[in-house]
Amino acid sequence: MKIAVLAGDGIGPEIIAQAHKVLEVLRRDGLKLELEAAPYGGAGYDAHGDPLPESTLKLARAADAVLCGAVGGPQYDALPREKRPEQGILRIRKELQLFANLRPAKVFEELASASSLKPELVAGLDILILRELTGDIYFGEPRGRRTNARGEREGYDTMLYSESEIRRIADVGFQAAMKRGKKLTSVDKENVLETSRFWREIVKDVAKKYPQVELSHMYVDNAAMQLVRNPKQFDVIVTGNMFGDILSDEASMLTGSIGMLPSASLDANNKGLYEPAHGSAPDIAGKNLANPLATILSAAMMLRYTFNEEEAAKRIEAAVKKVLGQGYRTADIYETEMRRVGTIEMGDAVVAAMQ
Ligand code: NAD
Repeated sequence: MKIAVLAGDGIGPEIIAQAHKVLEVLRRDGLKLELEAAPYGGAGYDAHGDPLPESTLKLARAADAVLCGAVGGPQYDALPREKRPEQGILRIRKELQLFANLRPAKVFEELASASSLKPELVAGLDILILRELTGDIYFGEPRGRRTNARGEREGYDTMLYSESEIRRIADVGFQAAMKRGKKLTSVDKENVLETSRFWREIVKDVAKKYPQVELSHMYVDNAAMQLVRNPKQFDVIVTGNMFGDILSDEASMLTGSIGMLPSASLDANNKGLYEPAHGSAPDIAGKNLANPLATILSAAMMLRYTFNEEEAAKRIEAAVKKVLGQGYRTADIYETEMRRVGTIEMGDAVVAAMQ
């Protein structure tokens, strides 16, 4: 199991170091993990003048999975667009053909009061939003500006999904549902959009391969409403790029803490890039303040989705739950009377809980 580790910038190296400790426990207990680090983002620019240096891309291609910290920082803001750290993210996703973005929104009972919703609505919430990442109106052609017949300027984009694009993301959705609660909700706008009518038709066809999974369909406006009204009704939600962009951010806020949210982006062979949903937090970088749990939980997703090591994934997740139960809190999730700890101490606590 070869893992390319791209720590990146800001808090990236600090939080990756904690995930590293956790994976080291599993390695010592017999999992054949091989980790190799490479510069990426601003660190890539500093080392090689490129946010995704050739040597880093080569390592990422050769690896089975990529574990990333985060990239970016104010010192890189004045660089030309193609040299900026964020270009490293966009390019690696494209180069590795990562089309499926998995964003779990899980609320540990211990943190239910951090949500802006009532604790009873979100306590124990565990849903997964699956967003198609490389198609839809974000990439459809033609797009541009023009002057219409009335002489008025207008802008336009094209919403477009091919059958193969829908089939492959639907497959990931059904397979993810099989590993979880066996319920899949496909979100579209079938009442208005031709693309959505086609989407729904193909998803229904793919469903024939997965009779164990209960499939339902929901309009995106209703899904946005249901996510805040009764989010626990969902298990896995699969949707297109634009609807997924919006719904995954909405769902992440149900948890109330950005430092707790892992993510995965997968290709057609379940090779994946795993990273926390947050950025490089330059405001707290180097201060031992960052919450490493999103990165540690991203490593758990890696074990589950790329390596099929469900037991190891559960072991990490159970350890995270245990440390929260023991009252360990980094500053971002701190409440009075809890045990306030730094990044390193939180990593150590998870390692201890795994033993
Ligand atoms: P951010 O997510 O880095 O930070 C937003 C706020 O959340 C900050 O107050 C930060 O301190 C806090 N925060 C984030 N992660 C935390 C953690 N693990 N523990 C505790 N607090 C945490 O977003 P931003 O400030 O908009 O962006 C900062 C930089 O990150 C920018 O350069 C941006 O481009 C980049 N960025 C990178 C990624 C990525 O690498 N995938 C994603 C988003 C933003």
